[in-house]
Amino acid sequence: MFNLILFGPPGSGKGTQSEKLTAKYNLKHLSTGDLLRSEIQNKTPLGNEAKKLMDKGHLVPDEVVIGMISTALDSNPKCDGFLFDGFPRTSAQAEALDKLLDLKKAPIAAMLALDVSEEELVKRLLKRGETSGRSDDNNDMVIRERIEQYNRKTAPVADHYKEAGKVVMVKGEGSVDEIFSALCKEINSRIKTKA
Ligand code: ADP
Repeated sequence: MFNLILFGPPGSGKGTQSEKLTAKYNLKHLSTGDLLRSEIQNKTPLGNEAKKLMDKGHLVPDEVVIGMISTALDSNPKCDGFLFDGFPRTSAQAEALDKLLDLKKAPIAAMLALDVSEEELVKRLLKRGETSGRSDDNNDMVIRERIEQYNRKTAPVADHYKEAGKVVMVKGEGSVDEIFSALCKEINSRIKTKA
């Protein structure tokens, strides 16, 4: 099993690159944002509670997303590996993920971290808000709050994997294909080192 984390602030391109990466490397895409939006669409109690927080730009409680990831890992016992997108977003989530993957003897191979300036992030998110239908994308204040939450709670998660030498910074500005090539280069070198 080959497990990767695609890391970066809101609007850094994780969703776009995840689609391309999962197709190329045959990984199962696990996006907590997508899982939560699907709960919202199905109007489940979990979705209704999560929506209140997401609309303010706040994080959903750790136990909720950890539970969703744990279920998803168990539902896909035979896949070649997972690409985690938008998870882990707090240190507690990172610790829980390590434990879950330890049980499967399949640790994180690398954390690929997309680097994008804050100015560019806000521009991209407002543009996405014009068409995405996501209520957290069309409000400047909510976008700023999401970036603030990222800087405060999520950015430190990289330190957790840095200690293990697993963090790879990749420039997240440029064309989608340029960024994809840079990510593939890093992944290929990790696959080779493993072999
Ligand atoms: P983006 O990266 O563009 O903010 P996501 O789809 O990853 O978009 O997340 C949207 C929202 O869903 C977040 O602002 C947060 O409220 C919630 N969310 C997603 N993943 C997590 C997580 N791992 N922990 C807590 N909240 C999460």
